[in-house]
Parts: sequence; structure tokens; C-alpha cells
Amino acid sequence: MTSSTPNTATLFADLGLPQPLLQSLSELGYEKPSPIQAASIPILLEGRDLLGQAQTGTGKTAAFALPMLTNLDPKKKYPQLLVLAPTRELAIQVAEAFQRYSRNMGFSVLPIYGGQSYTNQLKQLKRGAQIIVGTPGRVMDHINRGTLVLKELEALVLDEADEMLRMGFIDDVEWILKHTPESRQIALFSATMPKEIKKVANTYLNNPEHVKIETKTTTASTIRQRYSLVNNNQKLHAFARVLEVVDFDAVIVFVRTKLATVDVAEKLSARGYRCQALNGDIPQNQREQVIDKMKRGKLDILVATDVAARGLDIERISHVVNFDIPLDTESYIHRIGRTGRAGRQGEAILFVTPRERRLLNAIERATNSPMETMEIPSANDINKKRASDFKQLIGETIDKVDLERFSQLVSEFMQEGDSAPETIAAALAYIAQSNKPLFEAETEFKPEKREFDRSDRNERSRGRSNSRDGNRDSRDNNRDRGKRKKGPHKAEDMRTYRIQVGRNDGIKPGNIVGAIANEADLDSKNIGHIKINDDHSTVDLPKAMPKAMIKKLQKAYVCGKPMGLTEPN
Ligand code: ADP
Ligand code: MG
Repeated sequence: MTSSTPNTATLFADLGLPQPLLQSLSELGYEKPSPIQAASIPILLEGRDLLGQAQTGTGKTAAFALPMLTNLDPKKKYPQLLVLAPTRELAIQVAEAFQRYSRNMGFSVLPIYGGQSYTNQLKQLKRGAQIIVGTPGRVMDHINRGTLVLKELEALVLDEADEMLRMGFIDDVEWILKHTPESRQIALFSATMPKEIKKVANTYLNNPEHVKIETKTTTASTIRQRYSLVNNNQKLHAFARVLEVVDFDAVIVFVRTKLATVDVAEKLSARGYRCQALNGDIPQNQREQVIDKMKRGKLDILVATDVAARGLDIERISHVVNFDIPLDTESYIHRIGRTGRAGRQGEAILFVTPRERRLLNAIERATNSPMETMEIPSANDINKKRASDFKQLIGETIDKVDLERFSQLVSEFMQEGDSAPETIAAALAYIAQSNKPLFEAETEFKPEKREFDRSDRNERSRGRSNSRDGNRDSRDNNRDRGKRKKGPHKAEDMRTYRIQVGRNDGIKPGNIVGAIANEADLDSKNIGHIKINDDHSTVDLPKAMPKAMIKKLQKAYVCGKPMGLTEPN
């Protein structure tokens, strides 16, 4: 057995993966392989057995899915690959990941887990499902019934083996292993390696390569590190609250994918922050411009991927926000090293979803420092802060601005009616808050405590009988997209422009709004109707828009592609 330390500069294209997979990875916005991926993919591509050890959230699914998909044959309509996962939630997630990665290849992927009706599973099995992802109990049932035939099985993956052990599935797993052909390839992944798992590995794996992702240490002591536990779909709201109360100079926000850089940047811009996305698809010279703007204080927030922010040296950065927890602790250390520069104080804030807790522990272990927890500010905190800022603004305005004509207007108003001065001032304050409400409503930020759904085990202990629906992970945190408030647009004030990016490029209206709002510094309410076609889109913009803005847009990028805005004929 050997341990490998993967080279962090490796690209997916260097690993020998075929074009259709590289294509889907780029569509998904994955920029570079995580350490477990870089180390495992070449070994599995060679057809060797593998024992992989890395924390949750480090990208193990792609570490086995990508090489396995490469080695399978979409033309053979029988089960070629079986993945065993401890819970139905994980089985569904892994099956979905296979579907996403293989969408340009044409495989049939079938999740089978307890609690789901047999009828549909049987139908899918008969139709020739090629990749089966299941929980041990239900997989055993199907083997026993003869409905899952594994005699041609090419490969088997044991995902989260330690969790399967913990949940009492180890005997079932061994039973299944014995019902697979001797020649199959096996990949066993586990966050920890208890002796029972080692025993399984020694018994069933054939001269396996052992990949263990060790995590490096040391972080600067000038950086205060805090974390907050939030649900995925509340992250943005929580982050917006944090931004309002922290006293920041400049912030770099790290997300996992290129698409997320655009998405988060767009939402922060909509909240009035001077913010831009930074990702590897943006050409080098444009990236340099963005960084330069950040250095000169023309921008306050950058939303970046690891690759795009590598080695970034901007003294102003007072805060690093890990909007998505990094897949490896080494990245965490690199990320937070963007602040606390030149001997200054820096702050690092990390958002963790309940599923990612173990990854947080790994980071704490690797950096050898426990992190402080951070409360998400309540609406009350926010409102107090806003009220005090507002009062300060009133004071400054009285001191600095010549209010003569306005005083006159207010006196006239008082003579004409019988409103008290406080009421008039309150009405003016109300007007002054314009489209951004001064006071915010209370929200609960209460993450679920359970790490995964244990219903598969529960169901087993109840004799594999009745079904129960598990809650699906809240994967979709983009639901509020597209609910943009539109201003009143009169058709005769607008002009329709063409953009050379369309549905085939994966574009959504929100991306166009974000790009235009950022690049042309145009309030999103001035952006009119958007129509997405396959190979291009159209957007209505005000006729009164200055030429300089149009010029900027002609050079702008959307979803990492040149927008190619053209004026109507
Ligand atoms: P694990 O099985 O180690 O817990 P997952 O395979 O579930 O981790 O991956 C965790 C998350 O990271 C998923 O949302 C996945 O889409 C994402 N991810 C995996 N690999 C990459 C990558 N190379 N770049 C960006 N995101 C990735
Ligand atoms: Mg996993």
C-alpha cells in the first residue's frame, strides 16, 4: 500500500478522462479535481482496486464516478456497476451525481433503496439499468429475488464504508460482495479506517492502492476564525445579515463553482454591494482589471473560486468568507491566507451545513485550532444597526448640507396641514428608505441537527415493511432566482438587444440581469423583458442608456462567455 500526496495543480483534463465527462464537469462549473479525486481517478482508470480515505465533503463521489463511467460501456444493457451507500439519502445523492456526470454519455442509473415500491425498481431493472446505486438491505432483497443479476458486474463501490459499519450493514455488505464475480474491480471509500473495514478490504480487495488524503496545518494567528451552522437554502440570507453588521473593508467570498460565483455576486449586487465574480473562465486581462479595482477600493466584494483567487494579494481584504466549505483543508488554509496580510488583523467566516460538520472537524484538527461559533445577527440587531446608521446620516446631513429650500418646503407643508413635525419627519424617513426597507423581519436560522436521514436503518429494523418518505436535501438554493422586481417599463422607452449566449450555454435570466447590472452599473429594475432562446437571448434595455454603458456591455461576459451584445437593427 502507498499513500499519495496529489499535486493540487492537476486539472481534470490531465487525468485521462474522456471528452463527454470533461464537458459535463465544465458545465457543472468544477474547476479542478479535489485531492481525493486527483489521487483516485488515475488508479481506478487503470482498473485497480482502491482503498480511499478522506473526510466527508471532499468530493469522493466524483473520485469514483468519473473513472468508473469512463470504463463502463453504455451499449451493454445490464448492471455493470453497483454502488452501495449507507442511507437512502446518500444513495439518491450518488445516483443523481452519476446522472449529472454522465449526461453526455447515455447511461441508465437506478437508485434502489428501502421504502420505495418494488414495481418501479423492477421495471427499471428489466429495462437494463447499468449503474445501480443502492442501500445494502434492498440490494440484498433484489439479489435474493433474482431481480438483480450481478454475473456481468464490472465494478463495485462501497461508499461511506465506516458509516455502513456503524449502521450495522457490514454483514449484508459481505454477503453482497460474495455474490459478485471474482473479477470485479472494487473501490472502498471511508472517512475512517476501523479494523472491521480493514478486514473487509484485506479479504475482498485485490492488491489495493491506498489513498489517504492527509491534511496540512498552520494558519496565521492574526486571523480570527469563526463559523456558523446554517442550512444550505438560508446561507445567502445569513450571509447578508452578517455583512450588514461586520465592519469590513474588503471581502473575498469563496464558493465551490464558477456558476456559484456568478450567482452569489449577482445577488449581492442586487442588495447594493459593489461586488464582482472572479472565476477561471474570465479571461486573464479582465481578471486583472477586477483585482485592480478591488485594490483601488472601487469594488468591495469579490466572489471567487479557489483557482481564480490563487495567490491573490490584496492588503485591503479584511474578511474571508467561506460561503461554501472547501473540499480540502489545504484550500481552507490557502483561502483564509488572503486576509491578515502585511501584519494586519483579518477575519475568516465559514458557513457549514449540517451535512458538512465532519469537514469542519477536519479543518479544526488540521489547523489545530478550534473555531469560535458565530451567531447570525437577528433582525433586531440588524434593525438597531440600521436605525443608528440612519440617525447618524440625519445628523451629518444637518451639519453638512444646505437645507434652506427643504426647510422652506417643510414649513409650507406644516402651514397647509396640521401634521406634527415628528410625523412629517417620519413620512420623509419612510420615503428616504426608497426601495430598501429600513427594517427587516425576524427569521429563524435553525439548521437541522441530523446529519443524514437514518430511515433506511429504521426501516430494516421494522422488517423492511412500510415505506416512508425521506426529506430530500435542500439542494436547490436558487429558488428565489427570477423573482426580480421589475420597474414599470413602457415598451416605447425600451429597445431589444441581442446576446449571443443562450439556453445551450446554460444561461438563466438571473445571469443576464447580474452581468448587466454589474458591468454597466445599471439598477436591475431598469432591465426589461428577457427571452432565452437556444443559441442566443434577447434583453430589453432602456433607450436612454448611455453609449458608454452599451460599450461596456459589448465587452462583458456572462456565465463565463462573451456576451456579444449587439444593438438592434
Ligand atoms: P463526499 O462524498 O466526499 O462527502 P461529495 O462527493 O458529496 O463529497 O461532494 C461534496 C460536494 O462537492 C458536492 O456538492 C459536489 O458536487 C462538490 N464537488 C465535488 N467535486 C468537486 C470539484 N472538483 N469542484 C467543485 N465541486 C465539487
Ligand atoms: Mg460521499
